Amino acid sequence: MSKKTVLACAVCGSRNYSTASKETQTDRLELKKFCKTCGTHTVHRETK
Ligand SMILES: [Zn+2]
Repeated sequence: MSKKTVLACAVCGSRNYSTASKETQTDRLELKKFCKTCGTHTVHRETK
């Protein structure tokens, strides 16, 4: 069973992406993704 993880832009806070993560995962995800609000690639972090 996996839960859905939402990734939010660290710059503007927009929630642009969601991904499935395993429940055993403890580290906070940080991925570089394109943010259409910022218009560039920014770091996206896992949110609750
Ligand atoms: Zn952004």
